[in-house]
Amino acid sequence: MTFTSPVPVTDGHFYEGSSLELIDLSMAYGDIDVLRDVSLTVAPGTTTCIIGPSGSGKSTLLRGVNRLHEPKSGDVRLAGESVLTQKPDSVRKRIGLVFQHFNLFPDHTAEQNVALALRNVKGLSKAESLRIARERLAEVGLAERADHRPRDLSGGQQQRVAIARALAMEPEVMLFDEVTSALDPELVKGVLNLMAGLAQRGMTMLVVTHEMGFAHKVADQVVFMDEGRVVESGKPGDLFDRPQSPRLQRFLSEVL
Ligand code: ADP
Ligand code: MG
Repeated sequence: MTFTSPVPVTDGHFYEGSSLELIDLSMAYGDIDVLRDVSLTVAPGTTTCIIGPSGSGKSTLLRGVNRLHEPKSGDVRLAGESVLTQKPDSVRKRIGLVFQHFNLFPDHTAEQNVALALRNVKGLSKAESLRIARERLAEVGLAERADHRPRDLSGGQQQRVAIARALAMEPEVMLFDEVTSALDPELVKGVLNLMAGLAQRGMTMLVVTHEMGFAHKVADQVVFMDEGRVVESGKPGDLFDRPQSPRLQRFLSEVL
């Protein structure tokens, strides 16, 4: 297991996360149903990890929450209010999403990448957006790298810039979609430590991950999905040590 222990909280920045609820969420691509009646609740300030085989609908679920793909039926509620009746742009300001591929602008420095999002989305001045960008980069441990371009950063550092960019929007919830899957093994731990720190500081997080060590140590709740459904969910100790369904037992025997 790459991830063994959460880092202690080192600074005073605490988050005020909101609750996130999925209620009987169903999603399809054309005629093909890929998510069927998924319900789950992420309580404010807690972390839920979603695990499951490739193709089980994990990314589709996150895309539905963030309005990147419209659900077929069901509801998504942020702080108790449906996000499906709100403008996608305003939802994306409140729910940050970080992907496996970080999509930084190659010709911009780390701080410009973060600042650009602040200027475009929040309409802040150049000076103010750069000030916040430097603060967020310091938070992800990259104060010394603020003026580096992506090609001069490791994959792990680039992913931390992408996380800083999402945090700069002051989201109420953060979604992570296999953010360490494309990283060289030695770079994974730095990103997982950063995410564990966010969890400890009260961010509400929904994390799709293959890192079972991270899910075990950091998650308040783990959800196992297969074929577009939630098969089993619970506290990590119960789910990993006493899996009930044969499908989860088989999945864990393959990945652990
Ligand atoms: P996971 O993230 O768990 O690997 P996905 O949500 O990416 O699963 O995919 C769930 C199912 O939806 C898969 O069968 C996949 O082939 C299909 N799918 C994903 N994206 C699209 C798309 N844009 N168009 C059509 N089918 C898709
Ligand atoms: Mg996926």
